[in-house]
Amino acid sequence: MLVELPASVVTCRNLTGGQWREPSGAVREIVSPYSGKVIGKVGESSQAEVAQLVEAAQAAFPIWRAMPIKERAQYLFRFRELMLAKLPQLSHRAAAEAGKTVDEAKAGIMKGIEVLEFALSLQNLEVGGVMEVSRGVTCQMSREPLGVVAGIAPFNFPAMVPLWMYPIALALGNCFILKPSEKVPLTSQLIGEIAVESGFPAGVFSILNGARATTEALIDHPLVKAVGFVGSTPVAKAVYQRATGHGKRALCLGGAKNHLIVVPDADPAMTVKGVLDSFIGCAGQRCMAASLLVAVGDVDSLLEKVKAAARDVKIGAGMGAIIDRAALERIEGIIGRATKDGAELAVDGRKPLPPKGYEAGNWIAPTVIDRAAPQMECAQQEIFGPVLTIVRVKNLAEAMALESQNEFGNATSVFTTSGAVARYVADRATTGMIGVNIGVPVPREPFSFGGTKASKFGQGDMTGASVLDFWSDLKKVTTKWSMQADHNWMS
Ligand code: NAD
Repeated sequence: MLVELPASVVTCRNLTGGQWREPSGAVREIVSPYSGKVIGKVGESSQAEVAQLVEAAQAAFPIWRAMPIKERAQYLFRFRELMLAKLPQLSHRAAAEAGKTVDEAKAGIMKGIEVLEFALSLQNLEVGGVMEVSRGVTCQMSREPLGVVAGIAPFNFPAMVPLWMYPIALALGNCFILKPSEKVPLTSQLIGEIAVESGFPAGVFSILNGARATTEALIDHPLVKAVGFVGSTPVAKAVYQRATGHGKRALCLGGAKNHLIVVPDADPAMTVKGVLDSFIGCAGQRCMAASLLVAVGDVDSLLEKVKAAARDVKIGAGMGAIIDRAALERIEGIIGRATKDGAELAVDGRKPLPPKGYEAGNWIAPTVIDRAAPQMECAQQEIFGPVLTIVRVKNLAEAMALESQNEFGNATSVFTTSGAVARYVADRATTGMIGVNIGVPVPREPFSFGGTKASKFGQGDMTGASVLDFWSDLKKVTTKWSMQADHNWMS
C-alpha cells in the first residue's frame, strides 16, 4: 500500500468561532491523485459565512491578546504535542490528497513543526526592550498583535505551508484564519481538530473553506488586518494588490523556476543524488524543485548518470502523483512542445505503467529534456512536475547571465568541489535561497524562508525574524516620572 486513503468520504467544514459548520455553496469533490477515487468534498463559503467567521475571530481577539505570550505559548506546546502524536495520520492524509509520498508528507510536517518551535522560542526571546533614553526618561518597546489575520495556502503542502504562518501569528497574539487550497482541504480538518483539542479559545484559530470568491471576500473583509499568501505568481500578485489596495499588509510568495548550475569538477555521486532528489521530490510539485539544469562546459558523463538515475525511479513508491488531470495534461503539453521546438527528449516519462492497484492515478515518470534553448517554454516556465530541462552554456559567466534573467527568485544551486566557484555563484545569484551541493536549499530555522523577484511580493521572509514585523506592530512607550529629569531633547 502506497498511502492510506480516508476510510470514508470526508465532508469538510469551516471552523467558525470554535464550531464546525459546513459551507453552504457549490460542492467540489476531492479526488485522490493516487487512486482517482473521491475521498472528500468541500463547499464554497458564502460572503455571509466569511463575515460570520471573521467576526467570531474578532470576538476572540481581546481574550487572546490579553494573555501574556507565555500563556499563549502553552496552547501551542499542547498543539505541538498533538501534532507529533498524530504525525502518521497527518502524513497519510496530506499524501492522500496532495499526491506526495507519505515520507515526503512527514518531512514537510516536521519542517512546519520547526517553524512552530521557532514561534515557541519567542516567549523567551521577544521580550521587547527598555532603555533610559534621556535622564529620567525611559523608552520601552513591545510588539502588538494586529487583530484578525489570514493565511491562504497552496495545494502542494497542505500541512507545512500553513505551519509557516499560524504558529508565529498566533504566538504574537493574533487570531488566525486558515484558508486551505480547495484542492486539498482534508488535512486542515485534522489540524482544526487538533487545534480544538489543544484548547485554543473559540475563534483564535479558524478554518475557512472555498476557492477564489471565498478568498477575495476574506481579503476584502475590513476586520482582516494582514494577509499571508503562498501559491502561484499570478495569484500572489493579485492577492498582494487586492490586500494592499485596501491598505492592508500582505506578504505573498509565488512560483519559481529554480536553476541548478553543474560544473565539471562537481562530485558525481553528490550531484546525481542532489539533482535527482530535487527535481523528482514531491513529483516536482514544490517551489524549491530543480527545474532548469545549467550545464557548464563538458559535464556529459554527469548528465548521463542523472538521466540513468531518472529512468530507474519507481513511480508510486519512489515518487508520488500529480495533483489532478488538468495539471498532468499541462505538464505533458509542455514536454510535447519542447520536442517540437527542437529540444531533445532524453528521458520521456509520459504515460508510464501505473503502480499496481493505482491505475486511475495521475502518473508521470521523471522526464529529462536536454539541449533546450534558454528562451523555450520548458526553460522559462514553472512546470510543477518531475521534469528537468537542461540548457548548456560555455562558462560560468554565461550561466550566471542566464540565472539573472530568471523571472523568479526562489533558489539557485551550484554543484562544485571548488570553493571559489561556489563563492562566485553565491555572490552573483539573484535568488533568495542559494545551495552549494544542495538541490533543495530550504534554510533550516531560524534562517528564514523566502525568495526574491516574482517569487515574492511584500517585504521580509515568511519565516524567521523578519516575519515578526509582518504579524505585529511595534509600540513604543516613552515615560518620565521624576521632575529631577533634565529637560533636554523632546523630554
Ligand atoms: P494557486 O495560486 O492556484 O492557489 C493558491 C491559493 O490561492 C489557493 O488557496 C486558492 O484557493 C487561492 N486562489 C486561487 N486563485 C485565486 C484568486 N484569483 N484570488 C484569490 N485567491 C485565489 O497555487 P497552487 O496551484 O495551489 O499552488 C502551486 C503554486 O504555489 C506553484 O506556483 C508553487 O511554486 C507555489 N508555491 C510557492 C511556494 C513558495 O514558498 N514560494 C511554496 C509552495 C507553493
